[in-house]
Amino acid sequence: MNLDHVFVCGHPALDFAATLRARRSTRFEMFVTPERLTAWYLESGLVDTITPGDDSDVRAATAVREAVYRLVTDRRLGQEFDAEALATVNAAARETPVTPQLTPAGRHTEATPAQALATVARQAVELLSGPDVPLLKECGNPECTRVYIDRSRGMRRQWCGMESCGNKIKAAAYRARKKTAPAGARG
Ligand SMILES: [Zn+2]
Repeated sequence: MNLDHVFVCGHPALDFAATLRARRSTRFEMFVTPERLTAWYLESGLVDTITPGDDSDVRAATAVREAVYRLVTDRRLGQEFDAEALATVNAAARETPVTPQLTPAGRHTEATPAQALATVARQAVELLSGPDVPLLKECGNPECTRVYIDRSRGMRRQWCGMESCGNKIKAAAYRARKKTAPAGARG
């Protein structure tokens, strides 16, 4: 796996939660350095410029991220919110968020990593109190563990993305079918 950030979940709080990948197996961490964290804030479109962060920003971000993931999972499974996770996300949401500024060139947002994290926490509050909760779905690739918003008709979307998971699973299923088919049926 590479460290390029991807945004396939349909909501920034879900993409943020998915930066610990393959949660049930290899647990692949995307925020390995303060730079990879600030790159996420930039690439997500949350901020235009950001001040450099340090290891304490990574620790704060991963703590909030794990709390967001826990709350998303609780909602997805129809369980009560975990009290500790709730307190963590709410505390982060109370901090000063990213503030957009108007410049001659248009809207510009400059932030610290702490402000960017507060904004992600607020977005998680909006998501988990909003109308999209029934649409939360975990990717059909059991290795993946990304949760996305399924806006497809009849909620029939199976994967976080075709490129990230769908094609991989379909290719594996095809290989499995080929293996078990009688010799004459092979093509
Ligand atoms: Zn997936």
